[in-house]
Amino acid sequence: MKLLLIEDVPPLAQLTQEALEAEGFTVDHAPGLEQAREILAVAAPDVIVLDLGLPDGDGLDLLHGLRQGGKGIPVLVVTARAGLNDRIDGLDRGADDYIVKPAAPAEIAARCRALLRRPGGLLGRRLQLGNLAFDTASRSVTAGGQPVPLARREVDVLEVLLRKLGQTVPRRVIEDAVYALDEAPGPNALEASISRLRRQLADAGAEVEIHTIRGIGYLIAPARTP
Ligand code: CA
Repeated sequence: MKLLLIEDVPPLAQLTQEALEAEGFTVDHAPGLEQAREILAVAAPDVIVLDLGLPDGDGLDLLHGLRQGGKGIPVLVVTARAGLNDRIDGLDRGADDYIVKPAAPAEIAARCRALLRRPGGLLGRRLQLGNLAFDTASRSVTAGGQPVPLARREVDVLEVLLRKLGQTVPRRVIEDAVYALDEAPGPNALEASISRLRRQLADAGAEVEIHTIRGIGYLIAPARTP
C-alpha cells in the first residue's frame, strides 16, 4: 500500500516513515505542499498523512484542492493545532480522520490502516485464488491454510496482481504500487521479484500461476491442472 507522508520536521518525518514502513506501507515523503503536489501529479497513493503547518502553506488548502478535484484518497490529518474549531474545519474540508500532535508513529500507522479498512477502502478484504489466500489486514499469505513466507516486496507484488484478478496488470502499474518514488528500481527488479514469488508460491503448493504477458505485464490465474 502506497502512502504519501507530508511532514516538514525531518526527525519526525523520518520516525513516522520508519514506523509506517515497518507496518508494510511503501512511503513517499514530501516536506511541503509543493513537493506533495509534484508527487500527487505522478503517483496515486492509497492514503495520505497530512501535517497542516507546512513551510510553504496550509495543509488544509491541499486537502481542499484534492476534494474539489474529486480525489477521494483517504486523508489522515496530523497537526499540533488542538483547538476544536481547527478540528471541525479540517473535517469539513474533507479529512477522513484527525489526530493531534504529539502522535505516536504506531498510532498514525494504526489510524491509516483503519481508514483503509472502511467500506470501499483497500483493507479488510480477503483475496482468494485457488488455495491461495491473502489477508489484506494482516498482510499474511497462506496456501492450503499453511503460511507462505514472503518478503515485503513480494507480498506487495502479489497483492497488486490479486486485486486485479483476471486482468493483465501493466508493469508500470505494479512498479508504481510497489516502489517509492525515490527508489528508482533497476530494469530487472520487478522480474526478480516475480521470479522469487513464483518459486515461493510453487514451493508452498499454491495452485496459482503468474503469467508473463510479453511487452505488457503480468497476470495471475489458477494453475492449469496437468
Ligand atoms: Ca509542521
